[in-house]
Amino acid sequence: MNRRNMVKYSLAMGISSGIGLPRVKAFAASDSFLDLQRGDQRFRLNIFSEQGLSIAAWLLRDKREGAWGIPDPRLLQVLLWAQRELGLIGESRTMVVSSGLRTHKTNSGIEGAAQRSYHLPDQNGLFRAVDLVGAPNRLKQYAEIFETIPGLGLGSYSGHLHIDTRGYDARWTMR
Ligand SMILES: [Zn+2]
Repeated sequence: MNRRNMVKYSLAMGISSGIGLPRVKAFAASDSFLDLQRGDQRFRLNIFSEQGLSIAAWLLRDKREGAWGIPDPRLLQVLLWAQRELGLIGESRTMVVSSGLRTHKTNSGIEGAAQRSYHLPDQNGLFRAVDLVGAPNRLKQYAEIFETIPGLGLGSYSGHLHIDTRGYDARWTMR
């Protein structure tokens, strides 16, 4: 992410903070940290800081093409929200992702991928989807939490849970 995009992103964060998320204003500083893991790389990042956002953008990059995008701020907030909800009942606080940004080239190579996938970047490089991986029970827990948040696309697959911030509710199951 270049400096200009980073500034744009920071602005977007400020504008979208809290929209649609109940009690999100109650986030204390210590609650701003998202435990995000992909493969064997794990970071604890502050999604409200530039450094944290850069790490998230890097972790959620298109690995195949080596391309970075800008994760939708609301997407990170939703992940943080779910992590916090699970933390309240003493569950693991690490969110494990298998996919974030997908370039058009990568997306076209994936069998069954939606042509207008929210993993694709928009004209500003912003993407709105991640895939979470984990044990079936954990994915079910995530889904139950995400279902309470309006405006999300939630897709249950065997092995991963797709989540996107499309702005309206969508649910599907693919087994
Ligand atoms: Zn997905």
